[in-house]
Amino acid sequence: MPSPRRTLIVGDGLAGALVAWELHHRGLAFEQWSDGGPAASDVAAGMFNPVSFRRILAQWNAKVQQEEAQTRFQQIEKELGIELWHRVPIVRIFPDEAYAELWNERAEGDHEVSEFLETLTSSDLHESVIAPFGAGRIPNAGWLDVPSFTRASRERWRSQGDWQLQSWKMADGCPDGFDAVIDCRGVGAANDLALFGLELRRNHGEVLNIQPSEDWGQETVNNVSWALPLPDGTYRVGSTYRWDVVEPVCLEETPAHLLEQVTRVRCQSDREPQIMQHQAGLRPSCFDRRPILGQVSPKHPYYFACTGWGTRGVSIGPTMVRWVVQALLGEISEVPSEVHPKRFRTFTEN
Ligand SMILES: Cc1cc2nc3c(=O)[nH]c(=O)nc-3n(C[C@H](O)[C@H](O)[C@H](O)COP(=O)(O)OP(=O)(O)OC[C@H]3O[C@@H](n4cnc5c(N)ncnc54)[C@H](O)[C@@H]3O)c2cc1C
Repeated sequence: MPSPRRTLIVGDGLAGALVAWELHHRGLAFEQWSDGGPAASDVAAGMFNPVSFRRILAQWNAKVQQEEAQTRFQQIEKELGIELWHRVPIVRIFPDEAYAELWNERAEGDHEVSEFLETLTSSDLHESVIAPFGAGRIPNAGWLDVPSFTRASRERWRSQGDWQLQSWKMADGCPDGFDAVIDCRGVGAANDLALFGLELRRNHGEVLNIQPSEDWGQETVNNVSWALPLPDGTYRVGSTYRWDVVEPVCLEETPAHLLEQVTRVRCQSDREPQIMQHQAGLRPSCFDRRPILGQVSPKHPYYFACTGWGTRGVSIGPTMVRWVVQALLGEISEVPSEVHPKRFRTFTEN
């Protein structure tokens, strides 16, 4: 498509905010609409971690995507004048001997994941941590303050007259004054994408904000659940993953479950951590844990999808947005096949 004169971005979560910055940096006109409904980005812990802990493997294009994310968010940080990108190493507590052996082998070897892993001795661990089978560290990890990023971005576009509280759906077509729509509605895009045989799933997740009675140190500690230190001395604790809950509701049993998990790897204390906040959201997800990007149907040439970021929106977001905007501008003929709608066996162009 020829360079659009004015693009409508629908949604102002992480995806919508990043698309707006990408268009802004390219000097392209846009307006952003949001219906003000619940957003996964309002509750996201925002962590980035190049390693998948389940099988100790590098995440999808981890190095390249995380580098692009860091560059992009640090550039935006400067323009907004707020701190967003926080480097906080993750300490992974080994669950058993076999895991410890595999970690150490990978850390010392010539594996794709090796460059991300460090081995630790017990003296490297914070005094509050219990790790009978040992622990390893990912130094190049951390978190993005996603709610501050989306809030500050929204305020910026609003003050320029480029943001509106307004709903949009596919049946509305391409509104007057625009020649492209980039759909960043998160799970809000599910019904419209289903028209093309594209299943966008809702992955329910919950996080807590807690204040332990003793200091837990300045590194994230992960034993499947995790506790991430925040600048105000509290800790973010998460996360849950459920497919059977399709509304962003806080479940009564979750705080006890998460606290039990994270305190299991800490020295006994007389006092339970205090729960300051409990939040829930729906991650927009796909069957293969890759997003749905780009033009979906030649019959709707104005429409570009940009959703399905799952659990890793912060690390993959800047690259995903670049691909969508490159496809919009015709700089690439199509988005890469890993994120293209045609990888769905049920896909129909309609
Ligand atoms: C508990 C939890 C923890 C997480 N932790 C992490 C983490 O540590 N690291 C990480 O990278 N990711 C994490 N995520 C995932 C991350 O939140 C998502 O990948 C990302 O926020 C998705 O952003 P989005 O903009 O696509 O969707 P959303 O943030 O859901 O935004 C969608 C937007 O669209 C708007 N909208 C919806 N329908 C309409 C409509 N019809 N018209 C107009 N506007 C509409 C909504 O109001 C909202 O503004 C977590 C998610 C959850 C729930």
